[in-house]
Amino acid sequence: MMKSIFAGALMGGLVLGQTNFTGDILHGYPVISALDIADVPANTISRYWISAAQAQGGLDYFVPVFVARGTNSSLTTGRKLSLSASIHGDELNGIPVVQRVFASINETVASGGLNGTIIGVPTMNPNGNIHNQPNFYTSSDNGYYNNLNRLMPGTSVEEGGDLADAYDFTIWNNLWGNTSNVDIAVDLHTLSIGSNGPFWAYADFALPGVQRLAELAQPDIIKIDSGEPGSVETTWVGHNVPAITLEIGPAKIWNRTLITRAENFIYRLMDDLYMDTTKAANRTDPVVVDLSATYKATNLTKLRAMHSGWIEMDLTPLQDVTEGEVIGNIYNSWGDVLEELTAPATGKVLTVNFDPAVEKGAGVLDIVYNATSTE
Ligand SMILES: [Zn+2]
Repeated sequence: MMKSIFAGALMGGLVLGQTNFTGDILHGYPVISALDIADVPANTISRYWISAAQAQGGLDYFVPVFVARGTNSSLTTGRKLSLSASIHGDELNGIPVVQRVFASINETVASGGLNGTIIGVPTMNPNGNIHNQPNFYTSSDNGYYNNLNRLMPGTSVEEGGDLADAYDFTIWNNLWGNTSNVDIAVDLHTLSIGSNGPFWAYADFALPGVQRLAELAQPDIIKIDSGEPGSVETTWVGHNVPAITLEIGPAKIWNRTLITRAENFIYRLMDDLYMDTTKAANRTDPVVVDLSATYKATNLTKLRAMHSGWIEMDLTPLQDVTEGEVIGNIYNSWGDVLEELTAPATGKVLTVNFDPAVEKGAGVLDIVYNATSTE
Protein backbone atom coordinates (compact mmCIF):
# COMPACT_ATOMS: atom_id res chain seq x y z
CA MET A 1 0.00 0.00 0.00
CA MET A 2 2.82 2.38 0.81
CA LYS A 3 4.31 1.61 -2.55
CA SER A 4 1.12 2.39 -4.46
CA ILE A 5 0.59 5.66 -2.58
CA PHE A 6 4.13 6.65 -3.45
CA ALA A 7 3.64 5.72 -7.09
CA GLY A 8 0.44 7.75 -7.26
CA ALA A 9 2.19 10.70 -5.69
CA LEU A 10 4.98 10.56 -8.21
CA MET A 11 2.53 10.54 -11.07
CA GLY A 12 0.75 13.55 -9.60
CA GLY A 13 -1.24 14.59 -12.66
CA LEU A 14 1.74 14.64 -15.00
CA VAL A 15 0.66 11.35 -16.48
CA LEU A 16 -2.83 9.92 -16.38
CA GLY A 17 -2.72 7.78 -13.29
CA GLN A 18 -4.43 4.56 -12.53
CA THR A 19 -6.93 3.83 -9.83
CA ASN A 20 -5.06 1.77 -7.31
CA PHE A 21 -7.28 -0.66 -5.46
CA THR A 22 -5.55 -1.87 -2.33
CA GLY A 23 -7.68 -5.01 -2.28
CA ASP A 24 -9.28 -4.01 1.01
CA ILE A 25 -13.03 -3.66 1.43
CA LEU A 26 -14.26 -1.35 4.22
CA HIS A 27 -17.95 -1.18 5.18
CA GLY A 28 -18.70 -2.79 1.83
CA TYR A 29 -16.76 -0.38 -0.38
CA PRO A 30 -13.33 -0.72 -2.00
CA VAL A 31 -10.31 1.08 -0.61
CA ILE A 32 -8.23 2.96 -3.16
CA SER A 33 -4.86 4.63 -2.80
CA ALA A 34 -5.29 6.75 -5.92
CA LEU A 35 -8.17 7.64 -8.23
CA ASP A 36 -8.23 7.86 -11.99
CA ILE A 37 -11.78 8.67 -13.09
CA ALA A 38 -11.22 6.77 -16.34
CA ASP A 39 -11.21 3.55 -14.30
CA VAL A 40 -14.57 4.27 -12.64
CA PRO A 41 -17.55 2.56 -14.33
CA ALA A 42 -19.61 4.80 -16.61
CA ASN A 43 -23.24 5.66 -15.81
CA THR A 44 -22.68 4.66 -12.19
CA ILE A 45 -22.21 6.27 -8.81
CA SER A 46 -19.30 4.46 -7.12
CA ARG A 47 -18.28 4.68 -3.48
CA TYR A 48 -14.69 4.35 -2.34
CA TRP A 49 -12.52 4.94 0.69
CA ILE A 50 -9.16 6.62 0.36
CA SER A 51 -6.66 6.60 3.19
CA ALA A 52 -5.38 10.16 3.38
CA ALA A 53 -2.93 9.41 6.20
CA GLN A 54 -2.20 6.99 9.00
CA ALA A 55 -2.53 7.88 12.66
CA GLN A 56 0.11 7.19 15.27
CA GLY A 57 -0.04 3.42 15.78
CA GLY A 58 -0.79 2.81 12.12
CA LEU A 59 -4.57 3.11 11.80
CA ASP A 60 -5.80 4.77 8.62
CA TYR A 61 -7.76 7.98 8.32
CA PHE A 62 -10.21 6.76 5.69
CA VAL A 63 -12.06 9.42 3.73
CA PRO A 64 -15.32 8.45 1.97
CA VAL A 65 -15.51 9.37 -1.72
CA PHE A 66 -18.42 9.36 -4.18
CA VAL A 67 -17.64 9.32 -7.88
CA ALA A 68 -20.51 9.83 -10.32
CA ARG A 69 -19.34 8.96 -13.81
CA GLY A 70 -21.44 9.93 -16.77
CA THR A 71 -21.44 8.45 -20.23
CA ASN A 72 -18.22 7.04 -21.64
CA SER A 73 -17.89 9.79 -24.23
CA SER A 74 -18.38 12.48 -21.57
CA LEU A 75 -15.29 11.34 -19.66
CA THR A 76 -13.24 13.68 -21.83
CA THR A 77 -15.89 16.06 -23.21
CA GLY A 78 -17.92 16.68 -20.03
CA ARG A 79 -16.99 18.81 -17.05
CA LYS A 80 -15.32 17.39 -13.92
CA LEU A 81 -16.89 18.84 -10.79
CA SER A 82 -15.54 18.47 -7.25
CA LEU A 83 -17.84 18.88 -4.25
CA SER A 84 -15.96 18.78 -0.95
CA ALA A 85 -17.33 19.34 2.54
CA SER A 86 -16.21 19.58 6.13
CA ILE A 87 -12.46 19.98 5.70
CA HIS A 88 -13.13 21.81 8.95
CA GLY A 89 -14.43 19.00 11.13
CA ASP A 90 -17.09 20.99 12.99
CA GLU A 91 -18.52 22.62 9.86
CA LEU A 92 -21.29 20.24 8.98
CA ASN A 93 -23.92 21.84 6.73
CA GLY A 94 -22.00 20.88 3.59
CA ILE A 95 -22.26 17.18 4.43
CA PRO A 96 -25.98 16.80 3.60
CA VAL A 97 -25.48 18.99 0.52
CA VAL A 98 -23.07 16.42 -0.95
CA GLN A 99 -25.23 13.51 0.24
CA ARG A 100 -28.44 15.00 -1.21
CA VAL A 101 -26.85 15.77 -4.58
CA PHE A 102 -25.58 12.21 -5.01
CA ALA A 103 -28.88 10.73 -3.82
CA SER A 104 -30.85 12.87 -6.25
CA ILE A 105 -28.74 12.21 -9.38
CA ASN A 106 -28.97 8.42 -8.99
CA GLU A 107 -31.54 7.92 -11.74
CA THR A 108 -30.01 10.54 -14.03
CA VAL A 109 -26.63 8.79 -13.82
CA ALA A 110 -28.08 5.28 -14.24
CA SER A 111 -30.11 6.32 -17.27
CA GLY A 112 -27.08 7.78 -19.05
CA GLY A 113 -28.11 11.39 -18.41
CA LEU A 114 -24.93 12.60 -16.73
CA ASN A 115 -22.51 14.45 -18.98
CA GLY A 116 -19.18 14.50 -17.15
CA THR A 117 -17.96 13.43 -13.72
CA ILE A 118 -18.65 14.51 -10.14
CA ILE A 119 -16.31 13.67 -7.27
CA GLY A 120 -17.95 14.15 -3.87
CA VAL A 121 -16.23 14.15 -0.50
CA PRO A 122 -18.91 14.56 2.18
CA THR A 123 -16.48 14.45 5.13
CA MET A 124 -13.00 15.56 4.19
CA ASN A 125 -11.66 15.53 7.75
CA PRO A 126 -13.02 12.63 9.86
CA ASN A 127 -10.19 13.32 12.34
CA GLY A 128 -11.69 16.77 12.96
CA ASN A 129 -15.17 15.20 13.23
CA ILE A 130 -13.87 12.91 15.98
CA HIS A 131 -12.24 15.80 17.83
CA ASN A 132 -15.38 17.93 17.40
CA GLN A 133 -13.32 20.77 16.09
CA PRO A 134 -12.23 22.34 12.78
CA ASN A 135 -8.64 21.23 12.62
CA PHE A 136 -6.69 18.01 12.16
CA TYR A 137 -4.98 16.55 15.20
CA THR A 138 -1.40 15.33 14.82
CA SER A 139 0.08 13.24 17.63
CA SER A 140 3.71 14.26 17.10
CA ASP A 141 5.35 16.59 19.64
CA ASN A 142 2.66 15.70 22.19
CA GLY A 143 -0.06 16.73 19.78
CA TYR A 144 -1.22 19.86 17.98
CA TYR A 145 -3.95 20.93 15.60
CA ASN A 146 -3.44 21.81 11.95
CA ASN A 147 -5.74 23.73 9.62
CA LEU A 148 -5.99 21.48 6.56
CA ASN A 149 -7.51 24.41 4.67
CA ARG A 150 -4.21 26.30 4.83
CA LEU A 151 -1.88 23.48 3.76
CA MET A 152 -3.10 22.67 0.25
CA PRO A 153 -1.80 21.30 -2.07
CA GLY A 154 0.13 19.59 0.71
CA THR A 155 3.67 18.32 1.02
CA SER A 156 4.74 14.70 1.05
CA VAL A 157 6.65 13.35 4.02
CA GLU A 158 9.52 12.61 1.63
CA GLU A 159 9.64 16.32 0.81
CA GLY A 160 9.55 17.38 4.48
CA GLY A 161 5.85 17.48 5.23
CA ASP A 162 4.29 16.42 8.52
CA LEU A 163 1.18 14.22 8.72
CA ALA A 164 -1.25 17.08 8.02
CA ASP A 165 0.80 18.22 5.02
CA ALA A 166 0.89 14.63 3.78
CA TYR A 167 -2.89 14.30 4.27
CA ASP A 168 -3.54 17.27 1.98
CA PHE A 169 -0.88 16.00 -0.44
CA THR A 170 -2.75 12.69 -0.76
CA ILE A 171 -6.13 14.39 -1.30
CA TRP A 172 -4.70 16.80 -3.84
CA ASN A 173 -2.63 14.31 -5.81
CA ASN A 174 -4.20 10.91 -5.31
CA LEU A 175 -7.89 11.86 -5.13
CA TRP A 176 -8.09 15.00 -7.25
CA GLY A 177 -5.20 13.91 -9.48
CA ASN A 178 -3.46 17.29 -9.17
CA THR A 179 -6.35 18.73 -11.26
CA SER A 180 -6.48 15.84 -13.76
CA ASN A 181 -9.77 14.63 -12.17
CA VAL A 182 -11.32 18.10 -11.61
CA ASP A 183 -11.94 21.23 -13.67
CA ILE A 184 -14.43 23.13 -11.49
CA ALA A 185 -14.82 22.96 -7.70
CA VAL A 186 -17.01 23.99 -4.78
CA ASP A 187 -15.67 23.69 -1.23
CA LEU A 188 -18.42 23.71 1.39
CA HIS A 189 -17.93 25.32 4.80
CA THR A 190 -19.84 26.95 7.63
CA LEU A 191 -18.86 29.61 10.10
CA SER A 192 -16.71 28.86 13.10
CA ILE A 193 -18.50 27.69 16.23
CA GLY A 194 -20.25 30.45 18.19
CA SER A 195 -20.78 32.74 15.20
CA ASN A 196 -23.83 33.49 13.05
CA GLY A 197 -23.88 34.44 9.39
CA PRO A 198 -25.76 34.16 6.10
CA PHE A 199 -25.23 32.09 2.94
CA TRP A 200 -22.19 33.51 1.23
CA ALA A 201 -19.36 32.76 -1.16
CA TYR A 202 -15.72 33.73 -1.19
CA ALA A 203 -14.73 34.26 -4.80
CA ASP A 204 -11.64 35.42 -6.64
CA PHE A 205 -13.05 37.15 -9.71
CA ALA A 206 -9.55 37.40 -11.24
CA LEU A 207 -9.87 33.89 -12.67
CA PRO A 208 -12.39 33.58 -15.51
CA GLY A 209 -15.31 31.37 -14.53
CA VAL A 210 -15.23 32.15 -10.81
CA GLN A 211 -17.69 35.05 -10.97
CA ARG A 212 -20.21 32.91 -12.86
CA LEU A 213 -19.73 30.09 -10.35
CA ALA A 214 -20.33 32.43 -7.40
CA GLU A 215 -23.36 34.06 -9.03
CA LEU A 216 -24.96 30.69 -9.75
CA ALA A 217 -24.99 30.17 -5.97
CA GLN A 218 -27.27 33.21 -5.61
CA PRO A 219 -25.81 33.80 -2.16
CA ASP A 220 -26.70 36.63 0.20
CA ILE A 221 -23.16 37.97 -0.15
CA ILE A 222 -20.30 37.40 -2.55
CA LYS A 223 -17.07 38.39 -0.85
CA ILE A 224 -14.64 39.13 -3.66
CA ASP A 225 -11.02 38.53 -2.71
CA SER A 226 -7.91 36.62 -3.69
CA GLY A 227 -8.46 34.03 -0.96
CA GLU A 228 -6.33 32.45 1.74
CA PRO A 229 -3.08 30.78 0.68
CA GLY A 230 -3.27 27.02 1.18
CA SER A 231 -7.06 26.85 1.14
CA VAL A 232 -8.82 24.37 -1.14
CA GLU A 233 -10.45 27.23 -3.06
CA THR A 234 -7.29 29.27 -3.56
CA THR A 235 -5.26 26.22 -4.53
CA TRP A 236 -7.76 25.30 -7.24
CA VAL A 237 -7.80 28.88 -8.48
CA GLY A 238 -4.00 28.94 -8.46
CA HIS A 239 -4.14 25.92 -10.76
CA ASN A 240 -6.63 27.68 -13.08
CA VAL A 241 -9.59 25.63 -11.85
CA PRO A 242 -12.59 27.90 -11.09
CA ALA A 243 -13.58 27.38 -7.45
CA ILE A 244 -15.43 29.07 -4.61
CA THR A 245 -15.65 28.60 -0.86
CA LEU A 246 -19.33 28.45 0.06
CA GLU A 247 -20.29 29.32 3.64
CA ILE A 248 -23.55 27.70 4.74
CA GLY A 249 -24.53 29.38 8.02
CA PRO A 250 -23.40 28.52 11.57
CA ALA A 251 -21.36 25.49 12.62
CA LYS A 252 -22.90 22.44 14.30
CA ILE A 253 -26.52 23.36 13.50
CA TRP A 254 -28.42 21.84 10.58
CA ASN A 255 -29.70 24.92 8.81
CA ARG A 256 -32.11 23.26 6.39
CA THR A 257 -32.98 26.48 4.56
CA LEU A 258 -29.36 27.18 3.73
CA ILE A 259 -28.57 23.51 3.05
CA THR A 260 -31.38 23.48 0.49
CA ARG A 261 -30.12 26.71 -1.08
CA ALA A 262 -26.66 25.16 -1.44
CA GLU A 263 -28.14 21.97 -2.88
CA ASN A 264 -30.20 23.90 -5.43
CA PHE A 265 -27.09 25.84 -6.41
CA ILE A 266 -25.36 22.59 -7.36
CA TYR A 267 -28.28 21.66 -9.62
CA ARG A 268 -28.15 25.12 -11.27
CA LEU A 269 -24.39 24.68 -11.68
CA MET A 270 -24.78 21.23 -13.24
CA ASP A 271 -27.40 22.67 -15.58
CA ASP A 272 -25.13 25.60 -16.48
CA LEU A 273 -22.28 23.19 -17.25
CA TYR A 274 -24.61 20.98 -19.33
CA MET A 275 -23.86 18.11 -16.95
CA ASP A 276 -27.48 17.10 -16.45
CA THR A 277 -28.66 16.34 -19.96
CA THR A 278 -32.21 15.71 -18.76
CA LYS A 279 -32.40 19.42 -17.90
CA ALA A 280 -30.02 20.98 -20.37
CA ALA A 281 -31.09 19.06 -23.48
CA ASN A 282 -33.40 21.72 -24.88
CA ARG A 283 -31.71 24.77 -23.39
CA THR A 284 -30.08 27.27 -25.71
CA ASP A 285 -30.00 30.31 -23.40
CA PRO A 286 -27.72 30.50 -20.36
CA VAL A 287 -29.13 29.50 -16.98
CA VAL A 288 -30.76 32.60 -15.50
CA VAL A 289 -29.47 33.70 -12.11
CA ASP A 290 -31.35 36.00 -9.78
CA LEU A 291 -28.94 38.36 -8.06
CA SER A 292 -31.62 40.75 -6.77
CA ALA A 293 -30.83 39.72 -3.17
CA THR A 294 -27.07 39.27 -3.58
CA TYR A 295 -24.66 41.89 -2.26
CA LYS A 296 -21.15 41.93 -3.70
CA ALA A 297 -18.52 43.15 -1.28
CA THR A 298 -14.85 43.86 -1.85
CA ASN A 299 -13.84 44.82 1.69
CA LEU A 300 -14.11 43.29 5.13
CA THR A 301 -13.42 44.97 8.46
CA LYS A 302 -13.20 42.89 11.59
CA LEU A 303 -14.06 44.08 15.09
CA ARG A 304 -11.78 42.58 17.72
CA ALA A 305 -12.53 42.44 21.42
CA MET A 306 -10.16 44.49 23.56
CA HIS A 307 -11.26 42.75 26.77
CA SER A 308 -11.96 39.21 27.90
CA GLY A 309 -15.36 38.80 29.53
CA TRP A 310 -19.00 38.46 28.52
CA ILE A 311 -20.17 39.98 25.26
CA GLU A 312 -23.61 41.11 24.21
CA MET A 313 -24.32 42.40 20.71
CA ASP A 314 -27.70 43.19 19.24
CA LEU A 315 -27.05 42.41 15.59
CA THR A 316 -28.24 39.99 12.94
CA PRO A 317 -26.44 38.92 9.75
CA LEU A 318 -27.01 41.17 6.71
CA GLN A 319 -28.08 44.07 8.93
CA ASP A 320 -26.80 47.49 7.79
CA VAL A 321 -24.62 49.34 10.28
CA THR A 322 -22.95 52.75 10.31
CA GLU A 323 -19.38 53.31 11.45
CA GLY A 324 -19.31 54.40 15.09
CA GLU A 325 -22.83 53.11 15.86
CA VAL A 326 -23.05 51.49 19.31
CA ILE A 327 -23.71 47.78 18.81
CA GLY A 328 -23.05 46.16 22.18
CA ASN A 329 -20.93 45.80 25.28
CA ILE A 330 -18.41 43.56 26.97
CA TYR A 331 -18.97 43.06 30.71
CA ASN A 332 -16.82 41.68 33.47
CA SER A 333 -18.11 39.09 35.94
CA TRP A 334 -19.51 41.86 38.19
CA GLY A 335 -21.62 43.16 35.33
CA ASP A 336 -19.57 46.33 34.89
CA VAL A 337 -19.09 47.49 31.31
CA LEU A 338 -15.48 46.97 30.24
CA GLU A 339 -15.94 48.08 26.68
CA GLU A 340 -18.63 49.69 24.59
CA LEU A 341 -18.58 48.16 21.11
CA THR A 342 -19.09 50.30 18.02
CA ALA A 343 -19.33 49.33 14.37
CA PRO A 344 -15.84 49.50 12.85
CA ALA A 345 -17.14 50.38 9.37
CA THR A 346 -20.27 51.26 7.46
CA GLY A 347 -21.64 48.21 5.68
CA LYS A 348 -23.47 44.95 6.19
CA VAL A 349 -23.02 42.48 9.03
CA LEU A 350 -21.42 39.37 7.56
CA THR A 351 -20.78 37.41 10.76
CA VAL A 352 -21.54 38.16 14.40
CA ASN A 353 -20.60 36.16 17.49
CA PHE A 354 -23.46 34.73 19.51
CA ASP A 355 -21.22 32.94 22.02
CA PRO A 356 -21.44 35.12 25.17
CA ALA A 357 -17.90 34.22 26.28
CA VAL A 358 -15.23 36.32 24.65
CA GLU A 359 -11.47 36.45 24.80
CA LYS A 360 -9.33 39.53 24.37
CA GLY A 361 -8.12 39.82 20.78
CA ALA A 362 -10.81 37.59 19.29
CA GLY A 363 -12.71 38.69 16.20
CA VAL A 364 -16.38 39.15 17.17
CA LEU A 365 -17.91 40.85 14.14
CA ASP A 366 -17.19 41.08 10.39
CA ILE A 367 -18.59 44.01 8.40
CA VAL A 368 -18.46 43.89 4.60
CA TYR A 369 -18.81 46.77 2.21
CA ASN A 370 -18.03 47.77 -1.29
CA ALA A 371 -15.08 50.07 -1.75
CA THR A 372 -14.98 49.81 -5.54
CA SER A 373 -17.50 50.01 -8.34
CA THR A 374 -17.54 46.19 -8.73
CA GLU A 375 -21.26 45.90 -8.07
ZN1 LIG B 1 -14.32 26.33 7.23
